[in-house]
Amino acid sequence: MEINNNISKSNKITILSDFIANQIAAGEVVQRPESVIKELIENSLDAAANSIAVIVKDAGKQLIHIVDNGTGMSQDDLALSIKRHATSKIFNAEDLDEIRTFGFRGEALASICSVANVEIRSSQLNDEHGWKLIAEPMKTDIIEPCIMDKGTQIFVRNLFYNVPARRKFLKSNITEFRYISDTMLKFAISMPEIRFTFYDSDNLIFDVFPEPLDKRIGKLFGDNIAKQIIPVDYAERNIRVFGFIGSPEIAKQTRSGQYFFLNKRSIISKSLSHAVFSSFEHLLENNRNPFFILFLELDPKKYDVNVHPQKHEVKFDDERIIYSIIHRAVANSLQRHGLIADLIVSENFSKSPIEKEETSLNSNNDLLLVNKMTGEIINPNPNYNQNNNYNYNSSQRYNYNYTKNNYPNPNNSLTSNHFQTNDIETRVNSSANTENSNNTNNSISAFDYMFGKSIPEQISTELFNQIELQENDFWQLNNKYIFVSVPDGVLIIDQHAAHERVLYEKAIKAMNKEFANAQELLFPVRVQINAIQSSIIREILEEINSIGYTIGIITESEIEISSVPLDIKSGYEAQSLIEIIELYEEGEKLQHREQRDNLAASFSCKAAIKTGEQLSKPEMKSLFRSIQKCKMPYSCPHGRPTIIKFTMQELDKRFERT
Ligand code: ADP
Ligand code: MG
Repeated sequence: MEINNNISKSNKITILSDFIANQIAAGEVVQRPESVIKELIENSLDAAANSIAVIVKDAGKQLIHIVDNGTGMSQDDLALSIKRHATSKIFNAEDLDEIRTFGFRGEALASICSVANVEIRSSQLNDEHGWKLIAEPMKTDIIEPCIMDKGTQIFVRNLFYNVPARRKFLKSNITEFRYISDTMLKFAISMPEIRFTFYDSDNLIFDVFPEPLDKRIGKLFGDNIAKQIIPVDYAERNIRVFGFIGSPEIAKQTRSGQYFFLNKRSIISKSLSHAVFSSFEHLLENNRNPFFILFLELDPKKYDVNVHPQKHEVKFDDERIIYSIIHRAVANSLQRHGLIADLIVSENFSKSPIEKEETSLNSNNDLLLVNKMTGEIINPNPNYNQNNNYNYNSSQRYNYNYTKNNYPNPNNSLTSNHFQTNDIETRVNSSANTENSNNTNNSISAFDYMFGKSIPEQISTELFNQIELQENDFWQLNNKYIFVSVPDGVLIIDQHAAHERVLYEKAIKAMNKEFANAQELLFPVRVQINAIQSSIIREILEEINSIGYTIGIITESEIEISSVPLDIKSGYEAQSLIEIIELYEEGEKLQHREQRDNLAASFSCKAAIKTGEQLSKPEMKSLFRSIQKCKMPYSCPHGRPTIIKFTMQELDKRFERT
């Protein structure tokens, strides 16, 4: 009884053992095999290695093996290295303000050792021999001499074997491997002066030797990209921006080709990406994102990477300055390469994504700050100064002087083979209607939007299906919207979104084997792919093939396409697949879409007619017939509306005829 009282009534607090504390820290630092690799490579870099090899087995779940030729550790340092808060990189609080190494928390090795079996071998220059440390959770460390060259080797085996919940949380090998490849790629880009060797078991993924950045970009991204890059090198106020931007021709629909490195550390910043985009803006086709690899060099005192242990996000003291310097750096390069004529980039001018917006939401009729990209409303700071150049003045907004000739022509490929008249032959099978409940929701809201309560005369989906029209009822506006005159008003169709919906449903049907969608190529095409693309293709090969592609895997980095879906334009076979894969990757990462839905949406987005394409009347009619036959005609796979209707009644009201 006495003992019980002691525990339950008075003293409840105990200090956690080091082991538990390390495991908790591991939850932050070590999320997946990729994070172990990132930490270990950063350690090798901090130890001044110029050659680093990474070998993974089972996507790092079974083994992560890193070999470096860095400074190595003494016996005592080796023993200490795996203790919590053991670091050789900072000594006092002042050092925190000026971090020049990747690591500084002294947490990584301790955390990794609490969730895996670890062996570290290390030797310093001129040492007679090296030392080997064996660290296993809950066991006493063993340290003994070993023979090895100068440098450090780390083996991390059976990650999370003692934390089943974490082990279960890991994704498939293919997905985990993709995270690893992504990180390896970023290291290899950011440090062209270092040799990186990367193996997946016995398969060599890449082995890149010290070389100039543009050469390395060629090795990692292929010659096509390397031929289309423009150098950037610009400095202002002790901030340097350098690297490469892709010409508008290689801009992509996804942001997958965008890399920022801040003092060599990979960072992600929507706002800074927007700075690059803003320089390009008028050179890019709709929704395209420029390719870039940009390095920022600035005084470490001017920012804080301490925001998150994974350290992808950074807090700058003054992001506006960085934003405008990046904007100018990119604009300068574009100008030098004749892509923008007579560009005026004034000191105060930069199009920040943060805009002032007048809104009735705010009862004081004040201006609110709205982030244009996220739609997020930013509460104005009480000290906010109206004259602050945080927000550009609208009269400065169009400060560019373009000559017409500088515009790339978005309409150069008008093809008419988008629609077969019997585009979707299979009739709606309502019993199979459950394939995507999300879209049901989307379509309901789009339906409400279209036939909203303010419009009393609602028509039902059945009626929509039955509308019979002539070619003359169709009319195209700005190669973007299709106007359709219907008996009780006018429909406005977004041509891209509507075709996306048609192709999305077609892809889902093809995946369900309801019909075959493949057209065989006379001459199969071979395509070079990178490690990430290769892992995605292997992961969803069956689904890709079911929508109409036939892909043979030649090697780790080459595939052969011998058939493509009916809707893919000729000459576009390889590019379409690569773009679909990239969009698929983004859908998976950013929206966590379900696999088949994601693939169908990516396919439909890429194969659909684009905004800017001129359509003939028969084509418009054919598109309309196809959308009529869709299960969810009123929204595209991303949930945006495809059709908006104005009834006669609504028009009469607007013209005050009633
Ligand atoms: P941090 O990197 O934050 O200092 P770590 O737990 O990652 O913490 O590493 C602890 C220490 O071990 C480092 O400060 C460094 O002194 C030493 N160390 C780790 N990896 C290596 C390596 N590959 N080569 C030399 N020393 C290393
Ligand atoms: Mg470290």
